[in-house]
Order: sequence, then structure tokens, then C-alpha cells
Amino acid sequence: MPLAPDLAVAIDRAVDACADDLLALARRIHAHPELRFEEHQASRWLGEFLSARGHRVEAGVAGMPTAFRARSGAGEGPRVAILAEYDALPGVGHACGHNLIAAGAAGAFVAAAGLAGAAGGEVVLLGTPAEEGGGGKIEMIKAGAFEGVDVAMMFHPFDRDLLAHDALASAWLGFAFQGRPSHAAIAPHAGRSALTACLDTFRLVDGQRVHFRDGVRVHGHVTDGGQAVNVVPERAACEFSVRARDGEELDRVRAIVERCARAAAMASDVQVTLSARQGYRDMVNNLALARRFGAHLEALGRRARERDDRVGAGSTDMGDVSHVVPSIHPWLAIVGEGQAMCHEHRFAEAAASEGGGYTALVAAKAMARTALDFLTDPGLRAAITAEWQGRGGRDAPAR
Ligand SMILES: [Zn+2]
Repeated sequence: MPLAPDLAVAIDRAVDACADDLLALARRIHAHPELRFEEHQASRWLGEFLSARGHRVEAGVAGMPTAFRARSGAGEGPRVAILAEYDALPGVGHACGHNLIAAGAAGAFVAAAGLAGAAGGEVVLLGTPAEEGGGGKIEMIKAGAFEGVDVAMMFHPFDRDLLAHDALASAWLGFAFQGRPSHAAIAPHAGRSALTACLDTFRLVDGQRVHFRDGVRVHGHVTDGGQAVNVVPERAACEFSVRARDGEELDRVRAIVERCARAAAMASDVQVTLSARQGYRDMVNNLALARRFGAHLEALGRRARERDDRVGAGSTDMGDVSHVVPSIHPWLAIVGEGQAMCHEHRFAEAAASEGGGYTALVAAKAMARTALDFLTDPGLRAAITAEWQGRGGRDAPAR
């Protein structure tokens, strides 16, 4: 392994030295779940953890009060960003384990920060709000927070250790149907049911699933099912999340779903209004960086697989980052394989468990080792760059 053994030892010691505070930080954030863009306590506690160790914390990055940045090192040379998330979910709290992501990132930054200057590079910690549907990282990309950053990394809790698992490109579609009301018993023939069109949309989409490529997900719910039982529904509405392994398939499936809504509206002779919101981009894992992270993880006692087709994929705004700079988003187990999954109550419990905390500390060490490795190993940097350029480099801004 190219990383000098004494550097690896120094990193592990630095994480161990603040392990108790990191675990307390993770538990505290877990106990006070805050939704997207409302993570005021979490970002403040993270800032206090960093300030107490001599780091200056820049708050309000990209115009978001709960985004922050800290940096350490030579102020020149290679630059690596470590990303923290800390938002929770409605109803299930920290069921995505972002409290552990926060602790792992803070620990990795503190450990790497002490060595980055001597290594001739810089480590940046980015506090990124609102991964759960808000896309804080997208705002940070737009605001230039990734300008001058050479690689970006974070880890995410899971039920198994995977280095380069997929994350799907996503979009949100909303359909509002407008029909004609009439008395549902006296004059049903005079009405045009918006609800029938709404439900037909689901049936038509289901019929099209045989034409979807592997990895596609289309899931929706009815947000307005009518106004009264004795009135032919004048208004109905539904929304869908559409996901695919890349932007091209996403656009294709999105067009199919929209076509289904228009066809359903035509069949019921009602009007439909379409609205859409861009979701997240697919994750492009830089394998050279992911494998190096995997080597450090293995040195710390955990052997990760590269990917696992038996488990599904979600979406993350780290995908957007991965189209701007070479990135990794490894997944590390905080529960036994198959025992629980993100967004379940049992996963939230695991995010507060001793095992969850241990995984955050291992992640901190592996990320800090990988960051230092990046700063000190020109061969690794060359391999990452070659892979990045091989797929065309930085994409044009998507939006
Ligand atoms: Zn998550």
C-alpha cells in the first residue's frame, strides 16, 4: 500500500483520540432528528466539534444556513473533499443513518487535517444539508463549492459493505386531473371523473413495466382522490418518482409515464396538467479511488465487495457531485445483511447502536487514510484522472 505506514498509524490515533466525542456527536444528532434544511442543531454541533479542535468553520455556504465548510492544509496542491450529511426523515428519524455520516466525516477531516499541510495538499470538509429530497449538494455545486476540488468522498450506512454500489438518476412527476363534477347517483352520465383518469395512469404505467430496463423504478401515490362520495370527482392528482441507472433511460421512462397520464386523461375526457422536478443524477463511482478506499478498509479489518446486484439502489445528490468531480460513496454495514434497510425503524435503531458508531469510526479512518493517500500518491491521482477522462470528464451543468 503506497500510504506510508506511519501516516496510517497517525491517522488511526487521531480518530481514536476523538472517538468518544464523535460517538457522542452521532448519538446527539440521532436523538434530535432535524428535517432537510432545518438541521440547525446538527450543523452547530458539528461546527463546535471542529472549532474545539482549532478549525475555522465557514457557515451558510451556498446561501444555505445549515451548510458549512472547513479546510486545512497547504492551501495549494491536490485537494480532497470529505462530505457530511446530517438530515433526518419525517416519521422515522435518523433511519438513513446520516448522524453516522456526519460523525465519520468529521472524524476523517480532523484526522487528515493534521497531516494535509505536510503532505502538500488540502482537505476540505463540506457540510451538505438536505440529502433527503432537498439536494443541498446541488446548490453547493451551483455556488462553486466544488471548484478546485479534485476528488470527493463520503460513506453511507447500509446492511453490507460495498465500495461502488449504484445510485439511480431520479425525477419527480406530478399530474393534476381536472374533470367535470355531477351528481354521482342522479346524473353520473353528466360527469367526467378526474379520479378515473388518475387511477388509469397507474394501470397504464404498470402495463409499461415490461418495457423498462433493469434498474428502473417507478413508484407513486394518489395525493388527491376526489372531493365527496356523491360527486363525480372534479379534481384528482398523483405523483410519481421515476428512477433509472442513467439519465438517458430516465428521460425515456419519464416520457412513457407522462404519455400514460395523457392517455388516461384522454380516455376519461378530462384535462391533465403535468409538473416535473429534476431529482438526482446517477452515481458514477470512480473505481480507482473506490478500490483504494477498499484497500484501506481491508487493512482496518473489513473486506468490502465492489457491488451486489441482489440489493436495490436508491438515489443521492452525491450522484450530482460525481458528475462534477471524481467521487466515491461507499456503503458500510451497520446491521447484519438483510436484517434491516435504510428508511426503516430498525435501521434508525442501528444508527444509534454501538455497532453503528464503530462503523462510523472505521469509515473515518478509511476516508482519512484514502484522503492522505490521494495527497501523497501521484500514481493514484494519475489513475483517478485517467478513469475520469476516459468517461469524458466533467459534465456540462445539468440544470
Ligand atoms: Zn441516506
